[in-house]
Formats: sequence, C-alpha cells, structure tokens
Amino acid sequence: MGGFFGVVSKENCTRDLFFGTDYHSHLGNQRGGMLVWGRRGGLQRSIHDITNAQFRSKFQYDVERLKGKIGIGSISDTGDQPLIVFSRLGTYGITMVGAVKNLAKLSKNAFSEEHRAHFCEKTGTGINPTEMVASLISLGDTFKDGIKLAQDKVQGSCSMLLLVKDGIYAVRDRLGRTPVVIGEKEGSYAATLETSALYNLGYQVKHWLGPGEAVLLTSDGMTQVLPPQDRMQICAFLWVYYGFPASSYEGINVENARYRCGAKLAERDSDLVVDGVAGIPDSGTAHALGYANASCCQPSRTPVPYKRAFVKYTPTWPRSFIPSDQITRKLIAKMKLLPIEDMIRGQRLLFCEDSIVRGTQLRETFKILMKDMGAREVHVRCACPPIMFNCKFLNFSRAHNIMALASRKAIFALEGNCNSRLSEYCNDASECYLRMVEEIRSDLKLTTLKYQKLDDLVAAIGLPREKLCTYCWDGKE
Ligand code: SF4
Repeated sequence: MGGFFGVVSKENCTRDLFFGTDYHSHLGNQRGGMLVWGRRGGLQRSIHDITNAQFRSKFQYDVERLKGKIGIGSISDTGDQPLIVFSRLGTYGITMVGAVKNLAKLSKNAFSEEHRAHFCEKTGTGINPTEMVASLISLGDTFKDGIKLAQDKVQGSCSMLLLVKDGIYAVRDRLGRTPVVIGEKEGSYAATLETSALYNLGYQVKHWLGPGEAVLLTSDGMTQVLPPQDRMQICAFLWVYYGFPASSYEGINVENARYRCGAKLAERDSDLVVDGVAGIPDSGTAHALGYANASCCQPSRTPVPYKRAFVKYTPTWPRSFIPSDQITRKLIAKMKLLPIEDMIRGQRLLFCEDSIVRGTQLRETFKILMKDMGAREVHVRCACPPIMFNCKFLNFSRAHNIMALASRKAIFALEGNCNSRLSEYCNDASECYLRMVEEIRSDLKLTTLKYQKLDDLVAAIGLPREKLCTYCWDGKE
C-alpha cells in the first residue's frame, strides 16, 4: 500500500518529517524516502531499501544530514519515492499512495508519436507509477491543472504530496480511497495519511481532505486548490485490518470501529457458550475486546472474558522481512506468534480474526491449538465478510492469485469452478454462502466459523454504505 508524511515549517522540518514518516511503517515494506527543500535552494533526498530493516534504523543518520523547512517522506511498495521532477512547471518532488491500474494504457499514450515521452524510474520490470503520475501533472499549465489531469486520467487511486519551492500540495484521491489529513501546530503544517502520526509531534488535526480535494500548504497557511467532490469510496479495510488503531479516518477512530465490529459479532452469538474470547494479534485483538465487552451487555449470556491466548514476538523480526521462499515465510509467521498454553488447555475458546485470506496460516495455528495445546473447542469469528475479490484500487491484494483465496477454494470444491455463481456466494442470506462458509470451516477444522455480515461491518464503521468501498466482499464498484 504505502504511506506518506509532509511538513512545511518556519524551522528545520527534518525531525518531524523523520518521525512522521516512520509512523507509516506498517503500510509498506519496500522503500523508504525523505526529500527536503534545502536552505540554499537545493533538493536533498535519501532513499533506502527497507525490505529487511526498519525505516528508523536506515534514516537515523539522514536526519542530521538533511536540512530544510519543507519536506515529504514516503513508505513505498511501488519503487523509489519521493521522486524529483524537472518540468516546465518548475522543479518539484512527488510521492504517491495508490495504484495506477491503467499504467500500460498511459504508457502507450506517452510513447505515441504525439508525446514521445521517456521514463527513468522503474518498479520491478515496469515504469514507476509515481513517475507516470508526475508525467501527467507536468502536462498541465499549472500545478492545479496538472493535478486535475492526473486525477482524471488515473484509474485505480492516487493520493499524493507534491513538494514545491514554497510549500506542499496535498492531494486526496478522486474518490477518497485513502485518507489525507492536514495537521497544524505553531509555525508548522503537516500532511499525513495516518492521524496517529500527528499527536506525538504536537500537531492537531486542522482539516480532513474530501475526495479529490487539493490544498497548498505554506508556512503562512493552507489554501484550497481543488474543492472536494461529493462521491466518496474510502477503503473499508482501513478500519478492519490495516489502519493504525490510534488513527481516525473521516473522524472515525480505528480502535473504536474494531470494538463495534466485535460487538456486532457478539450480538449474533447470544447462545454460544465459551470460556474466553481471544484475538489473533494484531488487529484481531481489538475485535476480540469488542466482542468480550459486548458479551457483558447481553442479558441472556454469561459475560465472555477476554484472554490473551497468543502474544506476538517481534523484537528480532522486522515486520517487513519477507523471505522469498514460502517455507521460510510460513516458519517466520509461526515463530512470531506465541501461544500461551495456560490460557488454552482444556478451554472452549473463541478467536476473533480481522480477515481470512488464504487460510493456510490459520490452519496451522488452529492445529497447534487443538493438537499441541489441548483446546477443547476452537470457534472463529471473522471481523469482515469472506474476501471474494482482489483489490482493484490500491496495491492491497493479500492473495496474488484469486484461486488462493479461502472463499474461492471453497467455491471450487463445491462447484468445480472458482468463478461460479459469485453473486449468490456473496449473499450472506443464500444457501450457497452457508455451504461456502461450512466448506471453509471444515477445511480449517474449526468447531464453528462465522463471518461478519456486510451490513454489520458498514454499521460498525459508521459511514453510509455508498461512501465506502466494499469491493473485496461484494464485487460492487
Ligand atoms: S477493494 Fe477492498 S482493499 Fe481495495 S479499496 Fe476497496 S475495500 Fe479497500
């Protein structure tokens, strides 16, 4: 996915930039970058590979070296960022969060007789999507025109920060798939994706950008460049899984939304008797706390205590370390999650999980619970509906092959074809849906399995359904 942070200050901004960008480390694991407009008018940049190291450890010396009052930072899964662009609009820096899904078409157009463009940055084997967005911006007569042009041309999503001589353009995706928020403190403005990056640095939220909105931040204030649009499709998965608990999007806190998700799951479980509810760390923990708290308010039910049946061991495992072979990957995932036998043996336990993607790791985890740790029963409640489709709008596909999704594997087992009757399988009131969930339960060898209903998830988040992207679960755009 990726994240970004930008600062405009009357003083040197690099310390705020360093910590603010670091607070986005959970959103990406390939490249980190910092770019500042230096005191003598020059751009200073540092980019490091963070696949096997934390952002902080790679950039701690750059904080001393980079000096300037305006800067942007990036955590990226799509190649080097921020980029420096020399254009007819002037020199600028750019970092982007999103996905340019029509990159091939845009490239073809850029290489046409008419445009004869060229690109210098790459991601994997292709053009760096941030450079493609920059090439569109540079076609505009002004930054405002160029930003609008890029928003109109990019299919997928594109929130970005542009560093110019006097400030930062903060731009939210046309449909607001990802958030962008402006913070303010005495003498400084910040632009961030995660509001949790603001508070320890002394910033207060000043403005939530609406879909498609763009503002220019200078040391003197904030000016609106493009107005917000009505239609919004913010990613609902932010609240379920990948958003940070201390953050809020559209003014709705992540931890709170996860408690409400857990409460919704508990509401549909009033007759289930278990000895405790536990979360699969990290995000499953908040859903489980919500479940346990809500069980205290169910008149017909004995309150279900929260238990930590698992803890994470992370000090020696950078979260971003992703070895190339699957056996080592599985081993590391297992090594990071430590079961606490005293909480498990002889117990009837209910586990809350943020989402079930492939189910392969969960199968291993629950096998340990039942076989090695002696759990009596293992019930699982998933905080979102079955994932049926890969994300088309962000770089957020947790299973690269659609066939690997637990839902599609179940449909294949039932139908002999993983694409059969998808609209019926998406409908949680249908017979097909119940058979699919039963197939997944039996494959994972669970005592019971239930998924969140989409209506309940939407209610737990608290935004109108038409303002949320729910494509992963219902395939609707
Ligand atoms: S498809 Fe899923 S992950 Fe992608 S933006 Fe929509 S809800 Fe988020």
